[in-house]
Amino acid sequence: MSLSRFSRILTFRNVLTKNNTFRNINCNKAAIRGDQRCLRLLSTQTSPNEEENHSIIKNTEKPTGDITKHEFKAETKMLLDIVAKSLYSEKEVFIRELISNASDALEKFRYLAVSGNETAQNIKDIDRSLEIHILTDKHNRTLTIQDTGVGMSKEELVSNLGIIAKSGSKAFIEQIKEKAAVGDNNIIGQFGVGFYSSFMVADKVEVYSKAVGAETGYRWVSEGTGTYEIQPAEGVQNGTKIIIHLKADCREFADEDTIKNVINKYSNFVGSPLYLNGKKTNVVQPLWLADPKSVTFQQHNDFYRFISGSYDVPRYTLHYKTDVPISIRALLYFPEGKPGLFEMSRETESGVALYTKKILIKNRTDNILPKWLRFVKGVVDSEDIPLNLSRELLQNSALITKLRDVLTARVLKFLQEQLKKNQVEFEKFYKDYGLFIKEGIITNYNQAEKENAANLLLFESSHEEPNKKITLNDYLARAADKRTIYYLAAPSRTLAESSPYYESLKTKKQEVLFCYEPYDELVLMQLQQFKGYKLVSVEKDMREDKNASDLTNLGDDSLKRSEINDLSKWIKEKLGDKVTAVNGTTRLENHPCVVTVEEMAAARHFIRTQSHNISEDRRYAILQPRLEVNPKHPIIKKMYKLMSSDPVLAELLAKQLFANSMVGAGLVDDPRTLLTSMNDLLVKALEKH
Ligand code: ADP
Ligand code: MG
Repeated sequence: MSLSRFSRILTFRNVLTKNNTFRNINCNKAAIRGDQRCLRLLSTQTSPNEEENHSIIKNTEKPTGDITKHEFKAETKMLLDIVAKSLYSEKEVFIRELISNASDALEKFRYLAVSGNETAQNIKDIDRSLEIHILTDKHNRTLTIQDTGVGMSKEELVSNLGIIAKSGSKAFIEQIKEKAAVGDNNIIGQFGVGFYSSFMVADKVEVYSKAVGAETGYRWVSEGTGTYEIQPAEGVQNGTKIIIHLKADCREFADEDTIKNVINKYSNFVGSPLYLNGKKTNVVQPLWLADPKSVTFQQHNDFYRFISGSYDVPRYTLHYKTDVPISIRALLYFPEGKPGLFEMSRETESGVALYTKKILIKNRTDNILPKWLRFVKGVVDSEDIPLNLSRELLQNSALITKLRDVLTARVLKFLQEQLKKNQVEFEKFYKDYGLFIKEGIITNYNQAEKENAANLLLFESSHEEPNKKITLNDYLARAADKRTIYYLAAPSRTLAESSPYYESLKTKKQEVLFCYEPYDELVLMQLQQFKGYKLVSVEKDMREDKNASDLTNLGDDSLKRSEINDLSKWIKEKLGDKVTAVNGTTRLENHPCVVTVEEMAAARHFIRTQSHNISEDRRYAILQPRLEVNPKHPIIKKMYKLMSSDPVLAELLAKQLFANSMVGAGLVDDPRTLLTSMNDLLVKALEKH
């Protein structure tokens, strides 16, 4: 399964309706014959002669004419080098890659045969069996894979096997190189090195191919070093035959049992009949249509590996069937393995294939699940999807949107069920894939869907032990304040609990969710509300708390209102444009002051990601910090006195307190910048001793 291929192979096919007539398509008789065969091939019933020995692999090819020599493109060379030199523990995956190519070639042929286009009308050999054959030959130490699919013209041999054109950016290859360097054995599977993986086991690879409708066939041959050769050949059969000349230490792949095991492991579900040494080996059976209760664990594991091209097992399996509002038979898997770097990228295609009545419409269909669910692998079959759905329609059809909405809701509900059923297991999933859920909330425009995804969010809470996670729903179930969900972002539990922003809510015993991941606060900021409750960061609450600025009854241990006003004005003067305002506040107890900004999550994100290329002045102008001062705090009271008795020290102190508050708010990217001013302050403070 190649994530690497951005060329999406479209395998739209039209087939016969029940009364054997075509709908909406113009096609010839040959096409109908071809199509009847498609149906036959897709049928799960056993044909009577299945047990008979049936092989198409014959030694008929004879190269003739001029040989042309070609160089592989630079990236291809690099790739071949990586493939040949790396020590893959699972060399066997090359078989899966070649079978998958053969299967693709058959799907393309099937589409061509029934699409009724001009090429199809001119194909003489349209009426052919669509099959994949594998032959092991111990004596000659070869493995041959032949298909009756579309084949390749001379030009296609060059462009498909000589260049990694579509996906082959150098950067991409570099990524593979890195992966190989750290001994990641999965790269072939993950990145779909595809055809080239055969050079892991081969000294030489020979390809005979005849394109649909072509008169001449060609031989392509390479030893996987820098070059390959192409030569016309007689006696080439329709489709493609690949002969792998095995390296001496890979002779096991000329053994029937080895190949059989590998087929069972990865290719059992391939959509066309697969013959090994003349015997049919695969099950062409759509597992997603089976009764969920009848599908075994092992079958799920095998099918998951087959469709995802990975080596792990599913963590969760959703086998789902409905007829309203739209017909859906879905088999969706959530991987056990952690997401790879590649999967993290939003460029990655969906892992879900779309079928209608057992016929593949498109592998990796992008719109049937939202982008953030790209780690879900599986199959969706819907009778309501017309066969002649075009690529444009796949992107814009109301039907697909409906399918997507129903499926998304079902997936979210399913995950919520898993969370309720076994939170410990779900937390493991959340650890690996929580970031995708958060992406889903941040990138979604639909509030209802956002909130559905938010059901899955987990947080620590001020009212729970450390490490115990709760959901937003758990919070709501015991919320005293019926309007607000409070949250606080901090790097750790200790810092959250001692945060000056949290101080007054702590005294009031208000439950607060703690977010330790930088993205969490952005997610909650984006979410804005959940089931009618407003999500409010503790910092914002503090900035907007009108009561806190009421300084009329401060008590004896505090500066008086007029004194605070004087002090605030004086501090503002000294700090200049670094602050928009300085205020007294009653919300602080043990801390002398804090900084508030309009939207703390956005501000911190800005500091983390962009502040380094902006001048200090500009940074403060953007942040617009407000300094909130605690009139009861000994330092503040002392500062008020120093304002007249030792203004130099008072100014150093004011600046230092402000700088400290910026660090406390997480708005300073490098705390080392504080040290110089801190030392100046200490020198001054210690002068008299
Ligand atoms: P991918 O299958 O992801 O495109 P591969 O490296 O496996 O990448 O194959 C490269 C290309 O070579 C395919 O896209 C296809 O065009 C062509 N190809 C490979 N094998 C066959 C085959 N058996 N029949 C026809 N074309 C093939
Ligand atoms: Mg391939």
